[in-house]
Formats: sequence, C-alpha cells, structure tokens
Amino acid sequence: MAQASARDAECLGVSCFGGVGGEWPKDMRVGLLDSTLREGEQTPGVSFTVEQKLEIARLLDEIGVAMIEAGHPSVAPDVREAVRRIIGMKRDGIIRRAEIIAHSRAVKADIEEAASLEPDRVAIFYGVSDIHLRYKHRRSREEALATIAEMVEYARQHGVRVRFTAEDATRADYEFLVEAVRTARDAGADRVSIADTVGIATPYGVRRLFESLRRDVPGVEFDIHAHNDLGMAVANSLAAAEAGATIIHVTVGGLGERAGIAPLEVIAVALKRHYGLDVVDLKGVVRLARLVERYSGVPITPLAPVVGENVFTHKAGVHVAGVLSNPETYEAYPPEWVGRSRDYTIDKYTGRKALRARLERLGVHVSEEELMAILRRIKERSEARWLRDEDLLEIAEEVTGRTLRLRPPEHIEALVTVRCDSNIYTTSVARRLSLIPGVDEVIEVTGENDILLRVRARNPVELNQIVEAIRSVRGVSSTYTMLVLRKLGTGSGDRRKTGNKREKT
Ligand SMILES: [Zn+2]
Repeated sequence: MAQASARDAECLGVSCFGGVGGEWPKDMRVGLLDSTLREGEQTPGVSFTVEQKLEIARLLDEIGVAMIEAGHPSVAPDVREAVRRIIGMKRDGIIRRAEIIAHSRAVKADIEEAASLEPDRVAIFYGVSDIHLRYKHRRSREEALATIAEMVEYARQHGVRVRFTAEDATRADYEFLVEAVRTARDAGADRVSIADTVGIATPYGVRRLFESLRRDVPGVEFDIHAHNDLGMAVANSLAAAEAGATIIHVTVGGLGERAGIAPLEVIAVALKRHYGLDVVDLKGVVRLARLVERYSGVPITPLAPVVGENVFTHKAGVHVAGVLSNPETYEAYPPEWVGRSRDYTIDKYTGRKALRARLERLGVHVSEEELMAILRRIKERSEARWLRDEDLLEIAEEVTGRTLRLRPPEHIEALVTVRCDSNIYTTSVARRLSLIPGVDEVIEVTGENDILLRVRARNPVELNQIVEAIRSVRGVSSTYTMLVLRKLGTGSGDRRKTGNKREKT
C-alpha cells in the first residue's frame, strides 16, 4: 500500500485549493483492489474469455494493484476456471504481488468451492440494509448476524483469510451495521468492505460513516466499494480513504453493474494528485484501459477522465495560448504522468499561437501575414468540425503558394494480386514470381485470385517495370495492383485511417 509522502511543494496537496481545503490526513495509507474480472464482468453485455482474464490479471499485477478480485467461482464453470488459473499464476510467481480474492455468497457450498481453489482470501457478501434483509434474504436481523458469524467462521476453518462485504451498507441502520461488522470481525474476518451498493452516498456521509465505524469497531481494516449511479463513486472512494479506508475497490474504465464503480485510472491519478500517493504505475493505465476496452467491447468515451481521447486536447484560443505559455493554466495534472501528450484542435476556435505551434510541429514556417491569412481561411471553414493536419497543410499551400505537403515516402509498397491460367500449377507460377527483383513476399491465396505479392519499388517507373515482369511470367492471366498508403498498427489504439489507390493493369 502506498504511504503518503512529503508532497511536492510546487503542485501537490492542499495549496492547489488556495488553502481552503484543510490538511489532508498525513497518515493516509491506501491500496487498490481491482474487480474488473468480477464486478467488471457483471457489466451488461460483457463476458471475458479465460485467456483474456489471465492477461488482464497479469497486467493488473504488473502495474501494482494490491488485490485482484478474480471472480465468483460458483457462478459458472469458466469463471471457476479463470479463478483457478489466476491463483495458479500467483503460486507460480507469474503474479508476484497482488493478493488474489475469490468471491462467495454467504452459503456453505459457495464458500467450499471458493476455498478449495486456495485463494489468498475469500470475500463473503451479505446484504445488511432492512430492504435487503426483508426482500432479498427474507431474514430477521438476528438471523442475519447468525449467518454472518457462521459463514465467516466456516471459511476461516478452511485456512483462508476472509473479507466480509456488508452489502448495501450505506442504507443500513447504523447500529445494526456496527453489529454486523463486529460479528464478522469476531468470527475471524480481518477486512470488511463497506459497499455503497446503489451509489446513493455522498462524500460527506461516507467520510462520517468511516470515521464512526473505525471508532466503533477497532481491530479490522475497511474497504470502500462505491457504485457510480449518481456519478459519485470517485468522490465517495476518496472520502472513505480520507477517513481511514485502506482499500478502494475499482475496475478498469469503471465497469460494473448499472453505472459501474470507481474507475481504476481516475482513482489512481486522483490519489497521486491530491495526496501524493503512488498506488500503481500510472504509465500502465492507458494500455490497460485499451486492453479492457477491446476485450469488454465497452468503448472509452472521448470525455473519459485520464484515458479519453479528448482529455488532453485544448480547443479555445484563450486556453491554448495559456497552455502554450504554461500547461498548468488549464491542466489538472501533466499528461506525461499517464504517458500521454497534450494536443490542440485546429478549427474556428483556434488562435494564432496554437496555429503557429501546430504548423511548426508539421515543419512549416510562415510569416505573421501568412499565419493570419491561414487563420482566416480556417474560420471560414466553420462547417468543418475538426481540421486534420492534411487539411491544414492544404490551406497553408493555398495561402503561401509553396509546396508544404510532407515528402513522399522513400519507396513505394504495393500489393499485387495474380490470377493464373486454369490449366497451370499455381505453385510453379509462384516460384517463378518469387525470383523477380522487387517482389518481397509471395503468398498463395484462395478466392478469386491465386497469388498475392508484396512488392517494393523506389519510384512509379520501377513499380511499372516490376508489374510488367510479373505479367510476362508464363501462366499469369491477369494482375491487379494496390498501392499501400499506410499500415494500421494493431492493438495499440492506433486510429489512423488506411486506404488504397487502385490501378487496373
Ligand atoms: Zn458492486
């Protein structure tokens, strides 16, 4: 768990609130429990494969989360299999630090199954609000306490550590919640998770709740599990940590039931920003978010804090001028913390400084007069929502009369599909084609064509010569050439467009 360290006098800590926030607790100590694999898979429409879960778990451990909630084994065979294999990764030293947790209802069969996999900890949940007791469990408070005691003890008999989760704790009667937490502690749970199950709490209420619980039930550590139904999961989690909670439950991207829970990436940056706590390696969170975006199919919205496409992009001229002079004017924290970089949109809101900065990044130097003329053209194009670098260079060329477009690539790459005569062996044609200088790769394919060639030439003349050579090979009946414009990076969030130019030969 990260300990609060002496804060950076320049930026971190309460000085950023102009002194009105008061001192934050210097003894604050907190770590993250990631529940992407358990709570996150409870997101409607999300189902991870076992292999995907192993990859996510490995990455979570790599960035340094304190605990991984791997799943609820009794839910389904593949969930059980993933939990089993993640526990195996911990045993084999592939997962080095994170504590692995298996989830369980307060039911002997569930506990038995979870404990048999030998996780570091079993987490047993039970609703403690009157609504849950009456309409879900159909038990009296006395019966509930007896169940909690019995089930926590039962799990402890299997030799695992136990966390008790007080489900719907924020709507429970406080006196009864205290009794439930005491009961779990006395039965052997060393941690209790206080769940704001319907996301109904406020930061003020959460802070008071945790302060009271720590006073009234000493000898146990607390987790906060905050749902985001009213957009308060992050604020409530921080309030709990300020009041002494030592574990914050998160998921990558904030996945979870309904509106989800606190997002890992936001909590991690907020803990660093406000309290100087390094709970995970921040440089890894964007990669993790993109991986989970791909595997979950839940897209990261452009406005998502920390990982959204827009969140380090400045638009209004006034903002951009400020940021160019000192980024702190309009940034809560530097994008470099999470391995990203700042950007500026070019559109009708753009000012001179942003435009010059962008042009210079593209290697284009213009006079003040030209700059103003380019800016006027941009503002005339008010229907364009976002000008790409290519559009900007086109305008700059019109204004300056100079050729500014980027240098053409040093070589031309092309894909040539070949159709063979029907009475000939494709393989023998392919072998002959592979001998032609400039042909880099020869692939036999199925479909309308028989062979696909990757060709490299220094210029269009040379490309024509190579294509001519291909067409003159015996057995080739026709060819079709596509120029490679750009290659799309795979799996790295690269969003550049691809395209091709066609020429029939
Ligand atoms: Zn939850």
